[in-house]
Amino acid sequence: MKKIGFTTTIPVEIVFASKNIPVDLNNIFITSESPYKFLEYAEDDGLPRNTCNWIKGIYTAVMKNSVEEVIAVTQGDCSNTHALMELFENAGVKVHPFGYPFGIDNAYEYLKNEILNLCKSLDVDFEEVLKYKDRIDLIRKKLRYLDKLTVQGKVSGFENHLWLVTSTDFNGDFERYEKELDDFIGEAEARSVTERNIRLGFIGVPTIFDDIYQFVESKGVAVVFNEVQRQFSIPSVSDDFIQRYIDYTYPYDIFKRVEDIKAQIADRKIDGIIHYVQSFCYRQIQDVIIKKSLDVPVITIEGNDPGNIDARTKIRLESFIEMLSEKKV
Ligand code: SF4
Repeated sequence: MKKIGFTTTIPVEIVFASKNIPVDLNNIFITSESPYKFLEYAEDDGLPRNTCNWIKGIYTAVMKNSVEEVIAVTQGDCSNTHALMELFENAGVKVHPFGYPFGIDNAYEYLKNEILNLCKSLDVDFEEVLKYKDRIDLIRKKLRYLDKLTVQGKVSGFENHLWLVTSTDFNGDFERYEKELDDFIGEAEARSVTERNIRLGFIGVPTIFDDIYQFVESKGVAVVFNEVQRQFSIPSVSDDFIQRYIDYTYPYDIFKRVEDIKAQIADRKIDGIIHYVQSFCYRQIQDVIIKKSLDVPVITIEGNDPGNIDARTKIRLESFIEMLSEKKV
């Protein structure tokens, strides 16, 4: 049984079916005791200071032997991953490339091929993967329920973020994850609902900040939507394993994401959006289209280092919430 790391969400059922342990490298970095040390390590090894810190964190997670092999998503995620893959190969780490069909006409066939290639690379039969799909689907259904409880006000935006973001690898053990999820849902169901006047959504890559949810929610607003984290949990209800990874919006173009965000804004009655962007990330450019496309106010918050949000960001968020409150009166 090997630990197999990955750079962003992949069809994790394949790794479980191969009897290996999936490890989301982003989570290793951000949940480590000292994420700063990960950044220092990467910079000492020569990674440019003006590279996204998630990339530095992933680099260090692999170089410090957190995993034995890596699945690198070379298409549909982050252009930096190409160079990372080369660094890992150069260091003797086995890399399995995987690509989402970005901008490709016959997307379904392309993705099917990528999935079958990954199965081959991990030496697992696709039929076996489908058995794991059926088992893991029970957990995905519970995550959709947890997301509903968030909209109802029984689960906080931060709790929603944590559960959905860790569903990329189910913390390496889906049975234990499910048990903990059952306990959490039981506890959340028993909570009483606190009415909040303002309902916000987070969109964009998961934040590197530790305390942004706590800060925002302490101002009396409810965070009822985490766009990318929800996508990481593969919310598509298609029974077709390939199709659900086509429905997954994150690795594709911004227009597919905007369509999903708009539908969620309407369903969840969201008053405003916090668009989180990471310093030095190409996705920041998409902010232009997001602001033009959404019908609710959007504030863009940029983060670079792990840790707490700075005073300027706090003031901007407070003003945004105040503006939304005034609009509601
Ligand atoms: S935040 Fe942007 S630049 Fe950083 S790893 Fe993610 S996609 Fe790449």
